[in-house]
Amino acid sequence: MTTTDTPKPVGKTVTPARIALSGVHKRFGALEVLKGVDIGVEPGEVVVLIGASGSGKSTLLRIMCDLERADDGEVWVGGVPLHDRKRAPEIFGQVGMVFQQFNLFPHKTALGNVTLALLKVRKLARAEAEERGRAALERVGLADKADSYPAQLSGGQQQRVAIARALAMDPAIMFFDEPTSALDPELVGEVTGVMRSLAEDGMTMVVVTHEMRFAKDTADRVVFMDGGVVLEQGSPEQVFGSPSEARTQQFLHRVL
Ligand code: ADP
Ligand code: MG
Repeated sequence: MTTTDTPKPVGKTVTPARIALSGVHKRFGALEVLKGVDIGVEPGEVVVLIGASGSGKSTLLRIMCDLERADDGEVWVGGVPLHDRKRAPEIFGQVGMVFQQFNLFPHKTALGNVTLALLKVRKLARAEAEERGRAALERVGLADKADSYPAQLSGGQQQRVAIARALAMDPAIMFFDEPTSALDPELVGEVTGVMRSLAEDGMTMVVVTHEMRFAKDTADRVVFMDGGVVLEQGSPEQVFGSPSEARTQQFLHRVL
């Protein structure tokens, strides 16, 4: 231990995991979508959520991003207790989100899309925003497309711009909800490639995907959701190689 190490704050016996959910329930009217979910994600970990359509994956991810509120249970993300509504706003800027739909502004260039929140939310000066925006575009391999409009870009390039837009905010955690599901098959690899390189750089990531190859070669942990609960989780080798639950086996049989 060196003298520059920061001592642990006195009185805090537990270092909060980067993400920790316990007993999370979510209902939409009469429909109980999450039925008591417990899950933890450590800093630097890449967790892939798999499961059938309707099993609650997106709802769980949206709760972790505070786009949706749990009805019950505790949700800690990056040290912020999202179940404490007074403190929930602290999460803004700490998490980056990428969805199936890229949601780029068509009348703005790639750089314009990436810098928008830096200018409007972070209130950075234009020169600084553009410098960060260009660095983010470079990170996803699109330095040469800064001045292109979304319509001039392929779906894979548009999704990479969406990833750059999230990265430009310097998030501690990245959430992806089926980021390649809207793409033609030949464009999937360029997006999963960027995600893989983020993972290699140590980004904490929670990813909902049907790309089982990405799950196998990039996930530290695979979580199988079924009917609103985490039915099984483990290393990719465990979950894909020797799933212990019949429902997991059935699901994998359908998608692999
Ligand atoms: P998944 O992402 O695994 O396909 P979702 O979390 O999107 O699952 O959805 C789980 C269930 O919750 C589905 O039955 C879906 O129709 C329902 N659901 C999701 N969001 C809403 C909502 N805003 N209002 C009502 N029902 C919803
Ligand atoms: Mg979904």
